[in-house]
Amino acid sequence: MIIDIINKKKAGQKLTYQELTTIFNGYLNGTVPDYQMSAFLMAICLKDMTDQEVIDLTDIFVKSGERLNLDDIQGLKVDKHSTGGVGDKTTLIIAPIVASCGVKVIKMSGRSLGYTGGTIDKLESIPGFRVDLTEEEIKKQAKEIGIVDSSQTLSLVPLDKKIYALRDVTATVDSIPLIAVSIMSKKIASGNKNLVLDIKVGSGAFFKTMKEATRFATIAEKIGTAHHMKVRTIISNMDTPLGLAVGNKLEVEEAIAILKNEEQNSLTDLVLELSSNMIALAKNISIEEALQEATESLISLRAYHKFVEWITYQGGNLEQLKNNDPCIELKAEKNGKIVEIDALEIAKFVKSLGAGRFRKEDEIDYDAGIYFIKTVGDVVKEGEVLAKVYTSKKVSIEMLRQIIKII
Ligand code: URA
Repeated sequence: MIIDIINKKKAGQKLTYQELTTIFNGYLNGTVPDYQMSAFLMAICLKDMTDQEVIDLTDIFVKSGERLNLDDIQGLKVDKHSTGGVGDKTTLIIAPIVASCGVKVIKMSGRSLGYTGGTIDKLESIPGFRVDLTEEEIKKQAKEIGIVDSSQTLSLVPLDKKIYALRDVTATVDSIPLIAVSIMSKKIASGNKNLVLDIKVGSGAFFKTMKEATRFATIAEKIGTAHHMKVRTIISNMDTPLGLAVGNKLEVEEAIAILKNEEQNSLTDLVLELSSNMIALAKNISIEEALQEATESLISLRAYHKFVEWITYQGGNLEQLKNNDPCIELKAEKNGKIVEIDALEIAKFVKSLGAGRFRKEDEIDYDAGIYFIKTVGDVVKEGEVLAKVYTSKKVSIEMLRQIIKII
């Protein structure tokens, strides 16, 4: 009986594979109603899960849908996933670096939801870029140019889709076991055997403390091992937005500037750290050798040329990538040093400009966003431009002044 399974978890007891299958598959096929699953998810949030339960549940999630089989694509392959951040455009830079070093990057990315951005929205801000590739197209592109990023067109992990929608409205998103099952099941179903996880920690991330991020890392590695997947985890800060741009088109522009060596900031360091881990994992070489390869690819513009090849192959027209929204400049009101730019507050502000979604079906304004001229640690003079804000909406940038703290 379903109620016995809910009671068992409520009492903090360990569930068997069979019990987890009964309740989750019952929910997928409609025999377990929303109210029972909501109570069960809340019990998980409050009583936690053992590692074995998390591994079992991931397996049940993976088996709920289709799986992409990449075995017929020759050569080294690697995937990367970020747990979600503000201004996180790393995939746009990392994928061409790694692919230009001879390791294929075959990715399925998502759209923005909540306060975190989605790579698919960023890519879609490039006129003509196609994100809805078929399985055949994904494989053909991977074989021909070694780099592809598509939205999830196959029915991978339908159980996650249904459960995530329920978690979103029942205050049960912030459970580490449930987040691990959700992320890892999709990564396993998308076929890669090597994965680098960029686990964000800080105000603009799912995980607010190092303790939470570390627990997630440990569970994700265990799930990977149980599914014959090599997983490397990197924990990176998300108290401050990553790089200078937040907003879809602006982030693509920043990624291009990094790839062309026209811009260098904290984003460059993270990008090199993640790409060298991906290369080292796939090629089974030392991190020092991999870092040398990644750096050389970036400096020589090989990564930039790979990026252009990728975007063009998927139909994107980089010539037409220009921001059309009017821009408002925010100027410093006093001399001082920038000590804080809170990532979550910036995400909320940028969302209010039209760059993100409040509901899944909302349209995004690809041009909307913010470009920081100055960032944390910079000394500024009164009257200097701190940031440029792009929006077609009427917004007060005074809110932004409160977020950029100068002392
Ligand atoms: N991202 C996911 O895909 N799932 C979660 O549960 C949280 C973040």
